[in-house]
Amino acid sequence: LSFASCSLPDKLLHNVEAAGYEMPTPVQMQAIPAALTGNSTLVLAETGSGKSASFLIPIISRCASHRLVFTPDKKPLAMVLTPTRELSIQVEEHAKLLGKGLPFKTALVVGGEAMARQLYRFQQGVELIVGTPGRLVDLLTKHEIDLDNVMTLVLDEVDCMLQRGFRDQVIQIYRALSQPQVLMYSATMSHDLEKMANSLANGVSVISV
Ligand code: AMP
Repeated sequence: LSFASCSLPDKLLHNVEAAGYEMPTPVQMQAIPAALTGNSTLVLAETGSGKSASFLIPIISRCASHRLVFTPDKKPLAMVLTPTRELSIQVEEHAKLLGKGLPFKTALVVGGEAMARQLYRFQQGVELIVGTPGRLVDLLTKHEIDLDNVMTLVLDEVDCMLQRGFRDQVIQIYRALSQPQVLMYSATMSHDLEKMANSLANGVSVISV
């Protein structure tokens, strides 16, 4: 498998090449085609495996196709949850890089920053929200964000999210969405994770490299 054989939008392929990615990593070889079909996955992958691009590339591709058909609506189409503010910042930067020149705007929703500023960006219309569960639940409870069109939910480092006690918040966010594709990423498998995977999406394919 090569990036060119994945039927990605030209601009996305260009951005992938500009980032210096010549060949998909082993995780990307499996996770990208699986996510492009719209199925839910549980990917067992470490940081450094190229995991972020393995969910960002299919998300950007699917957002671009969606926006071609449904241009005017500006509601977010995808959401990435991470256990920490730092990881959210990194993922959002990475998303901006890969989404350059495409109809692909992003918003960062994390604690420790003025909520008004984050909301302003969100209200301008974005394709992707990246954030931590706590701040997102805050906004959700205040009915500040409309997540009706979110078609993909990524739970990055879901093992850490469970360890940090974010389980209930993650489930609350998931329930506010309309049966999205769920892409879960974890370094390790555990009983808790298996339970979570089963409760979130039916028919999750497990990818382990
Ligand atoms: P991650 O596992 O997402 O933290 O990515 C680790 C690093 O690998 C990041 O700096 C990425 O930019 C880089 N990377 C991701 N995919 C590829 C690829 N296919 N080829 C080369 N580098 C990559």
